[in-house]
This record gives sequence, C-alpha cells and structure tokens, in this order.
Amino acid sequence: NKRIIFKDYVTGFPKDDDMILTSSDIELKAPSGSAAVLIKNLYLSCDPYMRGKMSKPGVQSYTAAFTPGSVITGYGVGRVVDSGHPNFQAGDLVWGITGWEEYSLIKAPEGLIKIKYTDVPLSYYTGIFGMPGLTAYVGFNELSSPKKGETVFVSAASGAVGQLVGQFAKLIGCYVVGSAGSQEKVDLLKSKFGFDDAFNYKEEHDLNAALKRHFPDGIDIYFENVGGAMLDAVLLNMRNHGRIAVCGMISQYNLTVKDAVHNLMCLVSKRIRMQGFIEPDHKHLYPQFLELAIQHIREGRLVYVEDVAEGLEKAPSALIGLFSGRNVGKQVVRVAQE
Ligand code: NDP
Repeated sequence: NKRIIFKDYVTGFPKDDDMILTSSDIELKAPSGSAAVLIKNLYLSCDPYMRGKMSKPGVQSYTAAFTPGSVITGYGVGRVVDSGHPNFQAGDLVWGITGWEEYSLIKAPEGLIKIKYTDVPLSYYTGIFGMPGLTAYVGFNELSSPKKGETVFVSAASGAVGQLVGQFAKLIGCYVVGSAGSQEKVDLLKSKFGFDDAFNYKEEHDLNAALKRHFPDGIDIYFENVGGAMLDAVLLNMRNHGRIAVCGMISQYNLTVKDAVHNLMCLVSKRIRMQGFIEPDHKHLYPQFLELAIQHIREGRLVYVEDVAEGLEKAPSALIGLFSGRNVGKQVVRVAQE
C-alpha cells in the first residue's frame, strides 16, 4: 500500500519533501467485527486549506493539524473493497475524507457519502459535486445576496471554487469579472466559463487602476479567495452596500508575517457587509446543491475544468503547485483507474 506521509510542521512555503512516499503491507479487508470500510482510492483532491493543516496546531487554521509521521488526509473518491458497516457494500462508490494512499481503512465511515450519479466524471466529486462546489454555492448564492444586473468580482477565478462562482453569477444575470495569474487562465475565464471580462493580476502594476478600468461604477459583490493587496484594492472600489464573501486568502497562507490591509475604513463609509464562512458549517445544503448542479451540468449550463495529475507520487507537487498557480482548474490526483 503506497502512501504519502506528512514529515513535520511547515513554516513558510511547503516543499515536495515535506511529504514522503512510503509503502506498507495491509490486509485488503475490513477487520472482522469492526464497522470499518476499506476503500480503494481512485482520486485525491488537492485543496489550499491543507496548508493550514501543515502548520503547528493553533496557528490560524479552521481544521486540526496533520500529525507528523502520519498519512496525509484529504477529500477523495474511492470504491469500497470490503465493509463491516451496514450502510456500505463492496463495489459502492463513495467520496469524503480519505488518506493519501492506495487503500484506506476508514474507521468511522459515517462521514463518507455514497455517489448517487455516475453519468459524470467521478473526479467531479472532489470539485463541483464536492467541497469546492458547495463552497462556491454557499458563499455566492446563499451569503452574498446576489441580484440580476449587479457587478461581481472573483479572485483566483479559474480555480476549483472561482470558476463556479463566476458561472453561478452569470446564471443569475450579473456582470462578472475575474482575476487570475496567467494569460491561459484569463482566456479560459472568458471563453469557457463565460466571464464578461478578466485580467492577469500579475501584469497589473496598480490593482486599484485595473479594478477601476473594469468596474467604472464599482463592485457590488467581491468573492474573496486571495486577500492581501487585492483585498486592499477591492475595498477602494466597492459600491455602497456591497458584500464581500471571504472564502479564503491564499496569498497569506505561507507568510509568517501577514500583509497589512489598509483600507478597512471603506467597510464603514460604504456600509459593506464582509462575511467569512467555511463550507463545513453548510453541509445541510449539500443535497439541494447536488440536485441543482447535476441538472446544470447535464444541460450544459455549467462546465467544470480540472487539472489531473497522474499517480499518487505526484500528489505532493500537485498540492504545492496550488501556491504558485501551477494548476489550471481544479487540482485532482488520479491514484487508480476507475
Ligand atoms: P484554486 O483551484 O483556485 O487554486 C489556488 C489558486 O490560487 C492558484 O491556482 C493561484 O491561481 C491562486 N494563488 C496562489 N497563490 C496566490 C497568491 N499569492 N496571490 C493570488 N493568487 C494566488 O483553489 P480553490 O478554488 O480550491 O480555493 C480558492 C480559495 O478558496 C482559497 O483561498 C481556499 O483556501 C478557499 N476555500 C475556502 C473554503 C471555505 O470553506 N471557506 C473551501 C474551499 C476553498 P492564479 O494563477 O490565479 O494566481
């Protein structure tokens, strides 16, 4: 059983060798008398929140830290090989928290969700039909009070969450602009995801001027994925009574000293509602979200772009690539053929 072990707590930017590929023997069955489920992992998800789990416990994260010397855990899609739990049978396809390894013994399988629709790529359950999909839906549709005709700005717009936020905003009839870190991503935003406009933030010397160019009358909703200088520039360009959904701040995750934000007074003068949220608080919305998203995908109103790394051994570099923008779309790792 090949597996990826978390070496030790990380400060600053993580590196490939903070995660180590090892191998161990395991019995390919659930221990008799237990309620555990043994799954064969098919896809693993690389998500920015995993950086928080690499820091020492207590350092600004909303999930528990990884344990040095233990297998990395994260979202994934797998097939049940053996089950001691009445809700699961060999052959079932499931998604949920699993290990970065070929086979995982899930001791508390109640958290696994059985995959209902298989007429879509199974990897989508790490993305649009998984945690990032619900995140985009909750943060935008549920918490940002969007209305037809409003102006929406999305940062890290071509990623797992951002590409969906932009498409949800278009479905409501908003005017949407996204920022991303390369020309390839900017083209994708406009040609594939239907954003009205997009720009490469790395080529803008003055983010305030770039936003003024794209939003001469200001921004009603900002979907915040990056933080730092972008947030500061956005605050200057928000409209009165605007909303900022704070999903994440990836530009800050590897900094030991976080960037200062200077323009927070705009929250007062413009009466802005700025709200942080985390997806685990909104799991009850998953069933209704899934029904909506599957219809949109089947009928072509939503599309989803993934970046698939081949093989478990590629997982560490795929995860680290999120912090330099190497991924184009949702970063997934294929561990085994379906
Ligand atoms: P992405 O698929 O968007 O991948 C991360 C992207 O972030 C990179 O491709 C890169 O794109 C961009 N990025 C990396 N470093 C920087 C930087 N220093 N400055 C600006 N952009 C940077 O990730 P997700 O869609 O999975 O996540 C997006 C955000 O949502 C993250 O902040 C994440 O933590 C958050 N999140 C929050 C959840 C919640 O429950 N609150 C749940 C899921 C995600 P580019 O080339 O454009 O720079």
